[in-house]
Amino acid sequence: MESLELNQFWEQIKGELIKALPENALPWVYPLEISGYDKGVVTVVTGQLMGRDLLRKNHYRQIVEVLKQVTGDEKSDIVIIYDATAAKTLKRENEKLQKKVATAVMKEQAMENLSYMQSASNLNLKYKFENFVVGENNKFAHAVAMAVAKAPAQKYNPLFIYGNSGLGKTHLMQAIGHYTLFNNPKLKVKYTKTEDYINDFISNSRNSKDQVENMSKFNRKYTNIDIILIDDIQFIEGKKKTMDQMQHTFDSLYNKGKQIVITSDRLPKDIPNLTAALDSRFAMGLMVELVAPDENTRFEIIKKLAQGNDLVFEENALRYIAKNYTKNVRELEGAFNKVCAFAEITEQSLSLKLAKEVLKCEEKANEIDIERIAQVTAQYYDVDLDDLKGSARSQKISIARHIAVYLAREITEKSFASIAEFFNKKHTTIMFAYEKIKKEIVTNKDFSIATREIKQALKVM
Ligand code: ADP
Ligand code: MG
Repeated sequence: MESLELNQFWEQIKGELIKALPENALPWVYPLEISGYDKGVVTVVTGQLMGRDLLRKNHYRQIVEVLKQVTGDEKSDIVIIYDATAAKTLKRENEKLQKKVATAVMKEQAMENLSYMQSASNLNLKYKFENFVVGENNKFAHAVAMAVAKAPAQKYNPLFIYGNSGLGKTHLMQAIGHYTLFNNPKLKVKYTKTEDYINDFISNSRNSKDQVENMSKFNRKYTNIDIILIDDIQFIEGKKKTMDQMQHTFDSLYNKGKQIVITSDRLPKDIPNLTAALDSRFAMGLMVELVAPDENTRFEIIKKLAQGNDLVFEENALRYIAKNYTKNVRELEGAFNKVCAFAEITEQSLSLKLAKEVLKCEEKANEIDIERIAQVTAQYYDVDLDDLKGSARSQKISIARHIAVYLAREITEKSFASIAEFFNKKHTTIMFAYEKIKKEIVTNKDFSIATREIKQALKVM
């Protein structure tokens, strides 16, 4: 018989064997493979030593009966041979199969966990410790966050993470949530943006016949949990009633031994009108600052993204991006994503050449505007550009700096944060400078003349 025929012949027999033999014998029957058929004798091989012995010992007669029926040959017989090579292949296949099953199960469990996390706790799947690159800039904050995640409410409570926008505060905070949930899915974790907390409070505390019921629902929502993650607390500024409510939420959680994690783009003392009660509570635990990553960390951050997306990239392309986006990881990622998109659309690999082509114009548009405004303003007031960026407080320099800030905000539509970055000042300082000039320009003739002439020099009028 040709081997194809032989195999078909064996498949037919196997089908009958499966019907005829008891179920506990089947795991030994499936792996049998035919190796020959001669004068009524079927020779099969198996990689299972135990299979050979059990089939021989317990099912030999039944098997021969089946053979007789299929072949119609009264002299039918079977020889079962153990084959070590087949055994190895079988073992490998088995391992592969087991791995597949294990991964599938793990995936399923992970998905269950994750979907639970997402719905109940409001967490973003991207923001885990695994995806957080640790560098000099954030290793202390990272270590503290990890300590909190491993032992919630035992060490640093509250944990107050602060730092400029785009440096990983939300990421690190949510990583704590993911970590604790993964290790103990029974814990109740709640991530809330301060804005959402404020809106939730406002709508529930509104005068209505259900006000009492609404407020107790609100309280349950924010205090019947084990870990609360409150993001961007600076938005509470000026909201006195919400602050009092937050104090209530805080105390209730703290007294029950629950973990509180807060982020802010500045220190509590720089949040306008923060109540003394909240100020002192925020300072009770530990405050850690996130600062901008160094070049190597920036490189590692985008490299991780590239690797995560299975991208083909030139290392120096990533170096180039890392070199040019220094202050904000969100912008760094944005630049990287932009180059990726171009690479994909134009079907090129992510090369240095491409990165330069795509980002060069952006750099100019982004950075130079504030710089030009500051330069021209410095010239106008006859002071040094460096002084505007420095801490000198002479009247002439202060005025020049305030005017430059005002114009930067008016002309470029840049955020206060990025203007603050340029002038090496605090976000709030810059905001106050802007508001001051905006108010005074109405009555102060010198200011209105100065801004008009500087705008003319900048050719924006
Ligand atoms: P913040 O809350 O401080 O404004 P985010 O946590 O939103 O900043 O971070 C902005 C982006 O940068 C996010 O996509 C985040 O994943 C990423 N990011 C920030 N720091 C890191 C880091 N150390 N490793 C990896 N990604 C980071
Ligand atoms: Mg954030």
